[in-house]
Amino acid sequence: MSRVSLECPFCAKTNQIELHQLDGANQCNHCNKNITDGCVMPILPHNVNAITSSKLPVLIYFWGANCSNCKVLMPIIEQVAKQCSGKYRVASV
Ligand SMILES: [Zn+2]
Repeated sequence: MSRVSLECPFCAKTNQIELHQLDGANQCNHCNKNITDGCVMPILPHNVNAITSSKLPVLIYFWGANCSNCKVLMPIIEQVAKQCSGKYRVASV
């Protein structure tokens, strides 16, 4: 079985996830929060394989940390990620 590395968006620690389990709910081994299903996954150099290996469609939210419009929209994107859990992935750049 092959594994992918995925950084937890909550505690920033790296988790190894079996590729066949990527589209399910996976908990962080460090903080126990859900890191794949129903959350916005930040695309980082070592997360790219985890996101592109998903069999689910991926919605990518391109945003800027200094943009007030992007900050206003982020809670809505997070809500979309929760509501569409299991149907598609939501990632951010
Ligand atoms: Zn964590």
